[in-house]
Amino acid sequence: MKSLNALESNVFLVREESIAGLKSFVDTLVEILSRCGDRQKRLGFALRAGMTGECTRCGTQVNGAELMAMGDASIWGETSSRIQRLRLGRCANDQCACSSYRVIFYCRSDLHWDLVFTLVTIIDRERLKLTTAAGPGALQSKWRRQYLRAASLMALLVLLFLVRQWYFGGRIPLFREPETFRVDTLPAGAKTLH
Ligand SMILES: [Zn+2]
Repeated sequence: MKSLNALESNVFLVREESIAGLKSFVDTLVEILSRCGDRQKRLGFALRAGMTGECTRCGTQVNGAELMAMGDASIWGETSSRIQRLRLGRCANDQCACSSYRVIFYCRSDLHWDLVFTLVTIIDRERLKLTTAAGPGALQSKWRRQYLRAASLMALLVLLFLVRQWYFGGRIPLFREPETFRVDTLPAGAKTLH
């Protein structure tokens, strides 16, 4: 069991968020995860272990696995009543009417939270453009609307492709690869220092 000070020093970010906003954030995380190929499992583990949440009113705590299970397309298939309430934007505690949670993100040697947040922001912005372009009355011309939709969709696809490239060993990986050390063996007859 870590001491409180050790846990506090391990905190990357504390963020207050509406539970509905938190669900939207998790939906995007799940979408990123789905593009990570055979590293999805490792990333999923890091994300679940890297955050916890608590109600700002009643203090009910939820772990990272429960938070990640909030996503509509979550692969963990969690269907507890706590998760179902969270998905509806309500506190996990059925006696509490609060709709905001405090989320704590922990530093992890295998996870770049800053890059994850950047990706989520970019993907959400592109999704918003897509929604706006498709909205009624947003633009006069039907053709122009369709063009913008296609352009936004393309931007989103490119971003998701980049996520995959980063994750597969590009220069800016979302997840820190463990260091690998190579041990050179001395040639036969070589002298060693004493
Ligand atoms: Zn509560």
